Amino acid sequence: MLKINDLHASVEGKQILRGLNLEVKPGEVHAIMGPNGSGKSTLSQVLAGREDYTIDSGSVEWLGQDLLDMSIEDRARSGLFLAFQYPIEIPGVSNAYFLRTAVNAVRREQGQPELDAIDFLKLVKEEMKVVGMREEFLHRSVNEGFSGGEKKRNEVLQMSMLQPKLAILDETDSGLDIDALRVVSEGVNRLRSPERSMVVITHYQRLLDYIVPDVVHVLSGGRIVRTGDASLAKELEERGYGWVLEQADEQA
Ligand code: ADP
Ligand code: MG
Ligand code: MG
Repeated sequence: MLKINDLHASVEGKQILRGLNLEVKPGEVHAIMGPNGSGKSTLSQVLAGREDYTIDSGSVEWLGQDLLDMSIEDRARSGLFLAFQYPIEIPGVSNAYFLRTAVNAVRREQGQPELDAIDFLKLVKEEMKVVGMREEFLHRSVNEGFSGGEKKRNEVLQMSMLQPKLAILDETDSGLDIDALRVVSEGVNRLRSPERSMVVITHYQRLLDYIVPDVVHVLSGGRIVRTGDASLAKELEERGYGWVLEQADEQA
């Protein structure tokens, strides 16, 4: 489904990703952990297609296509969801309009009929109940004046509405209080299915108490230095990152 091969990428002339390999198969939930500054957010920005990141070498295969060759819009339409792409504020565009446009763009691409206003409203209201958002948020401009927690709920709402094939969530180290943790983890767990994959990027072990991943990776210095199952996250919580990084150094 997603296959990253020996990816090297830099920003402002500084090499950040240094030979990253990762394969995500349908239905799998992967966690990418790692110390601050290891390149976690850089990886998500590169997959999102942000222009200020330069790909130096390597490849990313997505549903048999070359992801790095696709426009940002094509990535989204093909069923790739990147959480942080959407917390941007869009003054003057209502949340309802934005969501319906995004959902219908994906549905067109997948050969499904578009949702009319009535069907859309029915669906979005159900999903809003699940994430705990009041209906007034439909009519407010996208993320404008939303609190951190409201943006988080809105992000999970977008993900539930878009039903992506692969969701990549970069849970930055700040602002994930217990309520937000619950919203994100319930949103992810609800969407788990044999066809859908998720990559949860986090510095925090705590999130993985709620989202139990199939595979855990440790990123350090722009490479994956260790891969294991959910017990690896537990071990990292108890012992920190030091021992993993030391073992990786010895092997290098
Ligand atoms: P993480 O998400 O794992 O904390 P990042 O991917 O944010 O790590 O950052 C990895 C490294 O790249 C850090 O040393 C950071 O300072 C650097 N970096 C990230 N973005 C930029 C940028 N826009 N300009 C310069 N350096 C950057
Ligand atoms: Mg960081
Ligand atoms: Mg980060």
